[in-house]
Amino acid sequence: MKQHEVIAEFYQVRVESGELGAGDVPGPKRIASEWRVSIATANRARTTLRRSDLVTNLNSALPLGPISDMDFAFRFLTKVQPRNIDGCLLWGKALDIGGYGRFWLNGRDVPAHRVAWEYKYGLISDGMELDHVYLRGCRSKACVNTDHLELVTSAENNRRSVSAERWRSSIWVRTEPDED
Ligand SMILES: [Zn+2]
Repeated sequence: MKQHEVIAEFYQVRVESGELGAGDVPGPKRIASEWRVSIATANRARTTLRRSDLVTNLNSALPLGPISDMDFAFRFLTKVQPRNIDGCLLWGKALDIGGYGRFWLNGRDVPAHRVAWEYKYGLISDGMELDHVYLRGCRSKACVNTDHLELVTSAENNRRSVSAERWRSSIWVRTEPDED
């Protein structure tokens, strides 16, 4: 993978999972400084993101729409694994590359943990996002246990998220540099 692809994927995963709003991807200057790459590479990453169908199709800001009791009982709960030793209720079907469960609802592929939350508590209002809370025992992004989730502001969630800095340092060593 090239650097711009890794950067694009980093933001794509976070937009898909709902950690970041589609409008929260930083501009080229900030990407360049956070990732220590050239502006050309940062721009290439943003172009890759814009081309990605996933980011446009899975805009997390869109409401999920209604979740019927039948859907929840027979299509959702049947995909959840038994409670594990951490108390996590892990999604037993498709996960995205960020490790979040995915569920097909109202014609869209949406984050499974968000379905669990909205079924129990109702619509998540604008600017609020779900966080898997380590201090509540949660050890997996694939968890759909609403007791392990907390509704936080986007800003707070961004603070809690793995920073670009930490992500970069963990995988940059095996990433092929862009030719600028
Ligand atoms: Zn959990």
